[in-house]
Amino acid sequence: MALLEIQKLTKRFGGLVANREISMQIDEGEIVGLIGPNGAGKSTFFAMVAGFYQPDGGRIFFNGEDITGRSPEYICRKGITRTFQIVKPFEDMTVLENVMVGAFLRTASPTRARKEAEEVLEFTGLANKLDWEAKGLTIADKKRLELARALATKPKLLLLDEVMAGLTPTETLEAVELIRQIHKRGIALFIVEHVMEVVMPISHRVVVLDGGEKIAEGTPEEVAKDPRVIKSYLGE
Ligand code: ADP
Ligand code: MG
Repeated sequence: MALLEIQKLTKRFGGLVANREISMQIDEGEIVGLIGPNGAGKSTFFAMVAGFYQPDGGRIFFNGEDITGRSPEYICRKGITRTFQIVKPFEDMTVLENVMVGAFLRTASPTRARKEAEEVLEFTGLANKLDWEAKGLTIADKKRLELARALATKPKLLLLDEVMAGLTPTETLEAVELIRQIHKRGIALFIVEHVMEVVMPISHRVVVLDGGEKIAEGTPEEVAKDPRVIKSYLGE
């Protein structure tokens, strides 16, 4: 059984079909990339999987359970956590407090939440900034914080929406290394990136969207030489 099984997911915004009958699956421990030009429907797809948008058609199964239309909190408790393309930490709270918010999904104990938040912040390289206000962080550190907050909810599947956008080449390499470390913890990853070069080397499998439709799926090598994919990226 797949960890995540998506059947014919559809989302409309008025007359626009942002996702049209998209099916795919993710197995336990897999890293799957979701790529496609701007406006392809990637963020919309994520939003439905994480419960932020209601689908207009199709079904989503997680560990065999039908989670279609469930709330983000319910889905997060089940083990799917997403990050946002536009990172939005609680600006006036400290780094530690921001991550404790995530940890409180799993524990009601402040002591335990703090311990877990500290562990995750160590792991994401923010241990020396625990008491910084989130608003004082660089973009790269805000993205680390977003990852730390997500990890504190103890996901089985982590959805990353353009976590590497806006980073320098060095910061991008660090982010890729962090993603590999997350994978080593046994967490499956579903990664949206606009830039193909970033996703290809880390993904076991890649799904390509264009104009709200799935136009290709396969190993990074297969997808990179697919004429429809090349055309969709060149035509941007
Ligand atoms: P991507 O993440 O691949 O760039 P999106 O999923 O953000 O694409 O958007 C897909 C399409 O749906 C775009 O045409 C976008 O303008 C539209 N769209 C996304 N969210 C909304 C919304 N909340 N209301 C109306 N249209 C939306
Ligand atoms: Mg997007």
